[in-house]
Amino acid sequence: MLMKVKLIPERCIACGLCQTYSELFDYHDNGIVKFAQDEDQVLEKEVEMDPAILEAIKNCPTRALLKD
Ligand code: SF4
Repeated sequence: MLMKVKLIPERCIACGLCQTYSELFDYHDNGIVKFAQDEDQVLEKEVEMDPAILEAIKNCPTRALLKD
């Protein structure tokens, strides 16, 4: 099953938490979230349902990660 994950970089405070849950997430040089293995401007992605990604989304302190 696929789910859509969305990044809202303006909300990201570069805490580094999301990558500890899932390697879907990576960071720009300034620590702001991006998708690993994607162009920097990609802010939305369909991925296989994964509990680790759901945890990352749930635990982001600023809700910079969303699931559709
Ligand atoms: S957990 Fe949220 S605030 Fe922290 S780096 Fe990831 S997206 Fe940014």
